[in-house]
Amino acid sequence: MTVPSRSPRPAWPDRLIAWYRRSCRDLPWRRQPEPYRVWLSEIMLQQTQVDTVIPYFERFLAVCPTIAALAAADEEQVLRLWQGLGYYSRARRLQQTAQLLVRDYGGALPDSFAALRELPGFGPYTAAAVASIAFGEAVPVVDGNVLRVAARLWALEDDIAQPRTRDAVFARLLPPIADQPPGDFNQALMELGALVCRPRCPACLTCPLQPDCVAAATGRTEELPVKRPRKAVPHRLLAAGLVWRERRFAVVRRPVAGMLGGLWELPGGRVEEGEALPAAVARTVQAATGLAVAVGAPCGTIHHAYSHFSITQELYGCTVLGGDAGAVRWLAPAEIGSLPFTGAALKAFAAMGLADPG
Ligand code: SF4
Repeated sequence: MTVPSRSPRPAWPDRLIAWYRRSCRDLPWRRQPEPYRVWLSEIMLQQTQVDTVIPYFERFLAVCPTIAALAAADEEQVLRLWQGLGYYSRARRLQQTAQLLVRDYGGALPDSFAALRELPGFGPYTAAAVASIAFGEAVPVVDGNVLRVAARLWALEDDIAQPRTRDAVFARLLPPIADQPPGDFNQALMELGALVCRPRCPACLTCPLQPDCVAAATGRTEELPVKRPRKAVPHRLLAAGLVWRERRFAVVRRPVAGMLGGLWELPGGRVEEGEALPAAVARTVQAATGLAVAVGAPCGTIHHAYSHFSITQELYGCTVLGGDAGAVRWLAPAEIGSLPFTGAALKAFAAMGLADPG
């Protein structure tokens, strides 16, 4: 008697795609994967959670629905739309690239990975995402989620923070992506990393890659991927003044070229070693505004974290003694929503009971 042969199990890329089509989240940029929408979503998703990005994405598109509209928008309006997402250089670079696209590319993104890589702000990750999802080019996206899945699937022992590990994963994903719809393949691997192959406690029992996964088979899911320990993040103590004049308070704009460039904040700066806080407020407010101030009572403390350091900012009420406040804008509390502020400034307003209507 002949035993009927069982049909072979589909290969892992086929199972991955089938799982993605059953399980993927309904996200606004997936409904219409047009180049500009894919690009915008990828830039917003850098360092930011999906749930946080969704309302920003929709608000941004309502104001800047096309590359041409973004190129022509007022920079402060763009920063205001970005306010709260952090990493504001992303917004500024997005707009500069949109202006370049209008000037040199007819207002559209070029349709290949190689041409996208020529644009400012298009690293290998963003270029691969736009090329594969919007234009169907078979080029792998290698982000943190994909690296984690790959490291476990193939039990890679190399540090995933190293560029050569990324290059090796990229090369290893080229054959499977060539046999699949490229946009779905990339999004499926990223989605699997976000939802199933999580950093802690991956859900291997429901994973479509489980039959091929070396880490799952050898009980090594918690020790892979290999990652260098992070360096301790430095901490800075800052002081700032809430300087009142006729029911308005002083705000200053940060230099356009530096970190958080072009955003507004309360005047202040770093406290020097051994310096008393009121003295630091008076010194840094004068440096930022040109105003001599009398420093009053403390009115709040905030803590804020950036990617490379964290801050504690001590806030003091101040009154003006004299000086020339050329660089200052005087703002009523009800006008806070009219300017793009740093995240720390918004926290300070909340800590002091000043409303942010934005
Ligand atoms: Fe990740 Fe587990 Fe799936 Fe392997 S089986 S890819 S460890 S979720």
